[in-house]
Amino acid sequence: MHARDTRLVVEELELEPPRAGEVAVRLVATGLCHSDLNGLHGTRALPTPMVLGHEGAGIVESVGAGVTAAAPGDHVILSAIGRCGRCAACVDGRPWMCATWGATLFSGTLTDGTTRLSLRGSPVYHWFAQSSFAERAVVPEGSVVKIRPDVALDKVALLACGVSTGLGAVFNAAKVRVGESVVVIGCGGVGIAAVVGADLAHANPIVAVDIADDKLEYARSLGATHTVNASREDAVARVREITGGGAGHTFECVGNAKTLGQLVAMVPAGGDGYVVGDAPPGTTFPFATDGFIRNKHLHGVMQGNVRATVDIPRYVDLYARGRLPLDRMATRTYPLDEINEALAALETGTGRGVLVFG
Ligand SMILES: [Zn+2]
Ligand SMILES: [Zn+2]
Repeated sequence: MHARDTRLVVEELELEPPRAGEVAVRLVATGLCHSDLNGLHGTRALPTPMVLGHEGAGIVESVGAGVTAAAPGDHVILSAIGRCGRCAACVDGRPWMCATWGATLFSGTLTDGTTRLSLRGSPVYHWFAQSSFAERAVVPEGSVVKIRPDVALDKVALLACGVSTGLGAVFNAAKVRVGESVVVIGCGGVGIAAVVGADLAHANPIVAVDIADDKLEYARSLGATHTVNASREDAVARVREITGGGAGHTFECVGNAKTLGQLVAMVPAGGDGYVVGDAPPGTTFPFATDGFIRNKHLHGVMQGNVRATVDIPRYVDLYARGRLPLDRMATRTYPLDEINEALAALETGTGRGVLVFG
């Protein structure tokens, strides 16, 4: 990305070898996630030129001094949010809130404040300290999650960010129990993963809300028991009707004022609502306070509250056992030179796109 709102350009860059605490990875696949589009078209000020991509999966080529997270030849997923292991959040067991990574995701550098990428001698900046829309990447070992070598990297790449976010929202943030009711607003990559998670948790009913019929049909094929098309129906009234007054757990996976308003309205007294979607900075919305005094709860969820090194290998195991339908979630592949088309396609249709390399 040479500038905001331009076409991405595929070109040859220089990549320095890994320094101490870093890992060089030959990427096999990288998932396409909405945050990449936000980087390209959003309002966040980013240094350019920059290599986007934050759902990488590949094979370790070499490691810098002191690295213990992985060794050459290991199959790894590059978690969108890494951990430093030393900040208060990491020590407290909440690595998804790692202060080091929080400061690094959009800084354009790796966690040491420098870049390994350059173009004809000028610096090129990193994205999520990863930059995996590329055949190779050097990343801090805190983003590296070693996984078993017998699974398809072009499927499990989705676990680097979007799918883990949806699953983690259900398993880690909400801790949904068997038979509890779930509503998911928005059936994009994250929302569909929340539907799949609710199905794995044996939630009932599982109500999917979207404005596109094809996405709702897809949600039904992956576990939704009911669907609501919010472009034709009053989503709040319909959800109340289906769930008998509102669900135990309601997940907002879109990130805009309208769906956030629907979330608050749908959560009943005693119920929990989860803000999973990433709304643009400064988004505000008005809401009625009814129910809050009667234990209506709203929670913000960061990256599914996922503990990458614990949860991602578990999700990989579930996939290997045939319980996690990643084959039906990663539905389209693109070569690197179709990156612009692949990103454009993120907005439409069902299933997720994955870049595959050489
Ligand atoms: Zn940390
Ligand atoms: Zn993402």
